[in-house]
Amino acid sequence: MRKYILPETGNFYKANLHCHSNISDGVKTPQELKELYKSRGYSVLAITDHNLLVPHHELDDDDFIMLTGYEINFNEMYTDYGKKPHFCAIAIDKDNETDPVWHSTKYIYKEERAKEHLVKKSGEDFCRQYSGYGITRAIEKLKENGFFVTYNHPSWSLQTIETFNEYYGMDAMEIFNTGCYTTGFHDYDVHCYEELLRKARRLYCICADDNHNEYPEDSNMCDSFGGYVVIKADKLDYNTLTKALCDGDFYSSTGPEIYDYYYEDDMVHITCSEAERIVLSTDRRYSKVACKNKGEFVTEATFEVPKTVGYFRVTVYGKDGKRAYTNATFIDEVRKF
Ligand SMILES: [Zn+2]
Ligand SMILES: [Zn+2]
Repeated sequence: MRKYILPETGNFYKANLHCHSNISDGVKTPQELKELYKSRGYSVLAITDHNLLVPHHELDDDDFIMLTGYEINFNEMYTDYGKKPHFCAIAIDKDNETDPVWHSTKYIYKEERAKEHLVKKSGEDFCRQYSGYGITRAIEKLKENGFFVTYNHPSWSLQTIETFNEYYGMDAMEIFNTGCYTTGFHDYDVHCYEELLRKARRLYCICADDNHNEYPEDSNMCDSFGGYVVIKADKLDYNTLTKALCDGDFYSSTGPEIYDYYYEDDMVHITCSEAERIVLSTDRRYSKVACKNKGEFVTEATFEVPKTVGYFRVTVYGKDGKRAYTNATFIDEVRKF
């Protein structure tokens, strides 16, 4: 039986899920960011200012939705070699505007900004302890309170296998971060994603800008429009979009497009924009490549998926080194044993 991993029906909505405005350390106002992204074909933007959960529903219109989110940090120490894990949290319900892991002083970017933007806090200060336990506890608290949690830019955060192996419960991780890439960090974090998947940690992968917009759009240092997710959903509505995120009904990309993606009778099928190669990866020493001669492109592939793999995922290598990624699918999600 055919199982659509990317939903068969619905519309594609382009989204940037990690973005900074001048409420924290970004340059542009929320209004300017909305207009900038809308002018470039995006339908969804989550402004995720540092430690400040500020809704921006007033900027919504018929063709554009603002998701409510923020980026929280855990600092080992404030040095160039101190590890700094960061996570974005996006409210799944449109009406959820309360920060469940608020800390008044230690991590707040600017206390007066919180007052100015009427940030709502729940209960006592939450102790953001830098440790695997402390970080996992914060992720749990965010999940309990209805947030979609992503693990950000592991390379910029100086993360190692020992550190990220201790973080549990996040919904997704950044496989590509434009801001880190433009400033010289290795934020194509495929290896981190595969390490977690091989430990049977079920999480999605996203590409996001993490833009601060210090540079103009024609600069190679511009940190907007490098990485995004494309959500497939029935309509452009806040809770419909966040449900699609939670269900994994999206792919991530720095350029190529994915149109159809489904599993049927031990085979996975994908159709996409012109690609130099389409690659199937698994947790085993089993991979497959679809490609033609140099200068020729492929737009579809069908790969056999052995019953013995734990998970599989597909990467589309487009022109100019740009890539699109499906989420990893664990074999028990598509196959009955
Ligand atoms: Zn960050
Ligand atoms: Zn950020």
